[in-house]
Amino acid sequence: MARYTDSVCKLCRRERQKLFLKGQKCYTDKCPIEKRNYPPGQHGVSRRTKISEYGVQLREKQKIKRIYGLLEVQFRNYFEKAVKQKGKTGENLVKLLERRLDNVVYRIGFASSRKQARQLVKHGHILINSKPVDIPSYLVKVGDQIQIRDKSKKLDAIHNSLKRVKDNTYNWITVDKATLSGTFVQIPERSDIPLEANEQLVVELYSK
Ligand code: SF4
Repeated sequence: MARYTDSVCKLCRRERQKLFLKGQKCYTDKCPIEKRNYPPGQHGVSRRTKISEYGVQLREKQKIKRIYGLLEVQFRNYFEKAVKQKGKTGENLVKLLERRLDNVVYRIGFASSRKQARQLVKHGHILINSKPVDIPSYLVKVGDQIQIRDKSKKLDAIHNSLKRVKDNTYNWITVDKATLSGTFVQIPERSDIPLEANEQLVVELYSK
């Protein structure tokens, strides 16, 4: 399957926004966005092209897709699912993305990026309700308990990542650092989700 292999920091610079793709580095002043908040390339600083309405919508879609680390087909499938649900399609889309297991593992704080969270899931370090689940796209349900399996509880990466987690950061997740577990207590409201993006533009793009 095609994967983006160039520097992920370029993706943030392209969007002129921190997308938090790199883990710990994103929280330090080594983040390139802190110093070079303009698109990469020779003409990145001076480029002032007026962007069309389609271009704005496309950029917003790319941004959300990259934040959650998805390919176009996967992202489109979430959109189709969101359309079929009751309520606002854009909000449904974001709520579905938030329920992905790799995202929940990241939000709990077991990983410092969604990419790292995906690796934890794929390598079998995660249990849901005491059963192993190694599918990053698994949609977490209300009441699910997400734990680190016993054999993995000493992994430095998990403990280093948890250090940045403050208690009760998100009102839809509870975290117990002592037992390395978290519970998904409710579906978050869109207003509670820290996603700097306008998902309505994605709805407009896909509705053309
Ligand atoms: Fe983006 Fe993180 Fe790289 Fe900063 S360090 S540019 S937030 S991926």
